[in-house]
Amino acid sequence: MFKEQKQQMIEKAQRMANMTYGVIARSCNKLMIGKTFWKSLALPSILYGANIFYITEEEVKKLEMIENGVYRQILGAPRYTANCALRGEIGASTMKTRVMKGHLQYVRSTLQGNNQLLKEVIETQLEEKSTKWAKMINAHLETLNLSQKDLRDLKKEELNQNMIRWDDKRWKEEVETKTSLRIYKRWKLKVKEDDVYDNTPQSRILFQARTNTLPLNSRKRFTKEKTNCVLCDEQNEDLKHFLLECPILSEIREKCPELQQPYWEDKEEVIMKFLFDDNRKHMEDKKQILYSMWKLRYRRQKEKELNTIMHPIPTHSAIA
Ligand SMILES: [Zn+2]
Repeated sequence: MFKEQKQQMIEKAQRMANMTYGVIARSCNKLMIGKTFWKSLALPSILYGANIFYITEEEVKKLEMIENGVYRQILGAPRYTANCALRGEIGASTMKTRVMKGHLQYVRSTLQGNNQLLKEVIETQLEEKSTKWAKMINAHLETLNLSQKDLRDLKKEELNQNMIRWDDKRWKEEVETKTSLRIYKRWKLKVKEDDVYDNTPQSRILFQARTNTLPLNSRKRFTKEKTNCVLCDEQNEDLKHFLLECPILSEIREKCPELQQPYWEDKEEVIMKFLFDDNRKHMEDKKQILYSMWKLRYRRQKEKELNTIMHPIPTHSAIA
């Protein structure tokens, strides 16, 4: 297959992504509507017919990039958010897993079905490994540590379980490599949807705190700028400082017993318990507290910026 059709598939993905942006811009619950639109309408349409054609790794990557863009929009996530965090919060498998699933389930159902002719064609191809398609199917099997015999024996659900396990393992490995997700990975043990997000700014801030992507000044270390706290000028404004230590925020923290100093447990544990609470009611309260803290910081930052514009630091030439 069929270069032209594959090019069309990528173009269609981009078109469907743009449509998703349009849909969520008008909706009151971005996460729910965006997810439903993308998963139930866009994806089946994009991958329609893809089961029977050969797809390269590069094409999978292109689709994956488009999809991550959609997830970023749905969650209001900054551009530097790790893909595994997006996927973890949306509760989605990767494009690679989805493509493999389509291919292998197609082969499985043919090998176990009644169409003798088709069965023979596929068996010969797999045996001879002569076509790109057959090589790809064999590569899928190798990835999952399965054999051609497994495709003849496994039930549909068993094959799916194999792929879910592989997808989960890969997700954990990716999270493991991200030092910024240290707290996230302690709590979030597997990919699942969380019903804590809605269309509010509170949700966006919670997502950013959980995935350690709040635009705090510690990020500026990458550009060698000052990392001092906007509120108290302490040297490194990171998540720990913002949530637990900054004295200017202590009054807001008083509303939450868990954030009261001194901290007896290790601080990451305290942050984890604050950001990831299975009790829905508590989580809603915490979202509000977090948002109040962020709003205070945001206002202070705007004031500072305004101040710099109104009273610029004089340069030498200005003094002269
Ligand atoms: Zn501070």
